[in-house]
Amino acid sequence: MSRFLKADLSALEPYTPGEQPKDWVYIKLNTNEMPYPPSPTAVSYVANEVSRLNLYPDPTCHDLTVALAKTLGAEENQVILGNGSDEILFYAFTAFCDSKTKAAFPNITYGFYKVFAQLCGIKYTEIPLTENFEISINDYKNTDKTIFIANPNAPTGIALSTAQIEEIIKSNPDNIVVIDEAYVDFGGESCVPLIKKYDNLLVVQTFSKSRSMAGARLGMGIGSAELINDLNRVKYSTNPYNINRMTLAAGLGTLTDGLYTEECCEKIIENREFAEKELSKLGFTFTKSSANFIFAKHELVTGAEIYRKLKERKILVRHFNSPLITDYNRITVGTREQMTALITALKEILEEIV
Ligand SMILES: *Cc1c(COP(=O)(O)O)cnc(C)c1O
Repeated sequence: MSRFLKADLSALEPYTPGEQPKDWVYIKLNTNEMPYPPSPTAVSYVANEVSRLNLYPDPTCHDLTVALAKTLGAEENQVILGNGSDEILFYAFTAFCDSKTKAAFPNITYGFYKVFAQLCGIKYTEIPLTENFEISINDYKNTDKTIFIANPNAPTGIALSTAQIEEIIKSNPDNIVVIDEAYVDFGGESCVPLIKKYDNLLVVQTFSKSRSMAGARLGMGIGSAELINDLNRVKYSTNPYNINRMTLAAGLGTLTDGLYTEECCEKIIENREFAEKELSKLGFTFTKSSANFIFAKHELVTGAEIYRKLKERKILVRHFNSPLITDYNRITVGTREQMTALITALKEILEEIV
C-alpha cells in the first residue's frame, strides 16, 4: 500500500479468488467452473466477430438483451448485462445502499457481498445461518435493509423455494431484495417470474457457471424497468462499453444453443449424484446441494488436511479459513472421470491417515 491510498480502501479486505494455476496439471474443482467447453455455436460466433475488434461494442447490448429477455420471459427493458454478475452486484450496492439503507446478507455466503459493502462504505448486517447452514427466512422479514441472498446459497448449495423467497420480498415492500441465482440451473427454482409482481425484486444470473462462459465475463440483472434503469445510471456513469464484442457474440451463440446448456447441466447433476453416493461410502457428510458443487466434511480428517493432500495429488478444491466452515471443503462437480479421480484420491488419503 502506498501512503496515498485512502483510509477506507486500506482497511478493506479484498475478495480472494480461488487459485487459477498457470500450469494445466491440476484437476480443477475449486472455482465452480463448468468442465465442459462453451457451446460450439458460441465458438463460431466469436470467430466471426474477431475482425470487428477495431470498433467499440454496442453499449446497449441490444441483440443479446433481446435474446436473453425472450429466454427469460421478460421484456427487453427488464434486463441489464454486466461484466460478470459481480458487476451487476456492484451496481446494486452502488444504486440501492447508502448510509440510510444498509445491506443485509447471511454470515455464510458469497464473499463478495461483504467486499462490495466495504468498498462502497455501506454498513451491513450478517445474519447467521441455522446450525444446519440453512437460511431462516423469518430473519429476513420486515427489515429496513437491502437484502442480498444467493439462491442456492454458496458455499452450502442449499436452496430456498420460490414461495419462501416471495415471503421475503412481500414483507420488504420498501426495500430491494437481490436474489443471486448464479447456481439456479443445477436444481434450484428461479424467481424471475416474480419480477412482474414485485418492483423491489432484482434477480442476478450469470453465464459463468451453467453456460460454460466464466472466461468471457457475462452476467445479468432482471427486474422492473425502473430498477434496470437505475442500474443503467451506474453503468453509464462508469463503463458504458462494459461488455466486449467477443463476449456479446459468445453470449448470443450460447443462447441460440439452449439444448447444449441443458444437456451439460443434466450431466453435472448426474455426476453430483454419483459423487455424493461415493463420498457417503467413504464417510463424508454434506449439505443438500442444488448447485454444481458439494460442501463436504469428514469426521476424522480436518478440512485443511483434505485440501492439502488433494493438492499434493494435483486435485484442487476450495477450503475456506472461516472458523464456522473450516471442517468443510467445497468441491466443484466436474466430469465423471474427474469425480472418479477425486474419489480414488480421497480413498488413498483416508487409508493413509485413518
Ligand atoms: C460465481 C458467482 C458469482 C459471480 O459470477 P460472475 O463470474 O461474476 O458472473 C456471483 N454470485 C455467486 C454466488 C457466485 O458463486
